[in-house]
Amino acid sequence: MLRRYGKSAEGILGVRQNFFDENAAALALATSQAKIYVSQPRRTYCKLCDQQLPERPDFIKLSIPYVSCPRCGQLNGMHEDTDAFCEAVYLDDSYAIYYGSADSERYQYRTNAIYRPKVDFLSDVLAADGVQANTLRHADFGSGSGYFVGALLDAGIDRCTGLDVSPAQIEFANRMVPGNRSKLIDLNETVSTIRELDADVISMIGVLEHLQTPRAVLGAIRDNPRLQYLFLCVPLYGLCVFFEMIFPHIHPRHLVTDHTHLFTKTSLTWMESAYRLTRRGEWWFGSDMLDLYRAVLVTLSEQEGTRGMTDQWVQRMRPLIDPMQLAIDQQHLASEVHVVFRIER
Ligand SMILES: [Zn+2]
Repeated sequence: MLRRYGKSAEGILGVRQNFFDENAAALALATSQAKIYVSQPRRTYCKLCDQQLPERPDFIKLSIPYVSCPRCGQLNGMHEDTDAFCEAVYLDDSYAIYYGSADSERYQYRTNAIYRPKVDFLSDVLAADGVQANTLRHADFGSGSGYFVGALLDAGIDRCTGLDVSPAQIEFANRMVPGNRSKLIDLNETVSTIRELDADVISMIGVLEHLQTPRAVLGAIRDNPRLQYLFLCVPLYGLCVFFEMIFPHIHPRHLVTDHTHLFTKTSLTWMESAYRLTRRGEWWFGSDMLDLYRAVLVTLSEQEGTRGMTDQWVQRMRPLIDPMQLAIDQQHLASEVHVVFRIER
């Protein structure tokens, strides 16, 4: 198995500049989405393994209770991601705009800095498994603004399609990536779409945790005889969650409505055996230190008495972000992981 650790945060620092500038707006959006989430019925079974959840939360963030699954270790938000919730959050135009880069120069920068390394990792894992990535058909599920599809094309992988439920995102993706490769799918037909997908590789980058029926989706992947590989990037119950808990005035990038559940090392292992997946490659790199850097920087700059410290903080902390994050990644405590699975039948 191919195992990789770390990735420089310099590229992402350029892309995520708005997180520093727009903390208050992002926090307000998260707070209003949290309100919608906690008004949904209680989630009583684990989103990943369907085990009954304990009644008492482990912790509460912006009024949302969270609890760890006693069987698989998945961290669960304790309310359901109902149709009403998903429509309010994922089909909201501000969601698409938040993740879309307006002009084509910024779009290409984001494609190169964030998505091309993912394509290269996938290609390396497939090559180590004896397959050339450009000989396979790729389907990017939940393709959003089309960045991953664009990066596949840049890498010479021509047989690729993007699929997404948001008309605004599809329209934007097809404007940015040539060839009308992104296609609209119905939110209510995600499972049947996957079961009938005519592709060899299915990628879900930051997607599985947003789906209402992840168990049915994983089952559909297993039941589609054409699919050979699954490429996932999932958010983890990493160190960043602790940072988010101790900085109440900072926009929580990881918790709250974006992620109604988070994976752990043990829940990934549970998923692997339950859905007959074999791990062929994993790349551990998180943005926990970037989150800490941002949380401290924004907190310092918000108060009169500490505003003068921000330059010194940047000077001291920036060179430390990569080496400190690498230590976290190597301990598998990071905020996310990329995994390539072979689907066994
Ligand atoms: Zn579970």
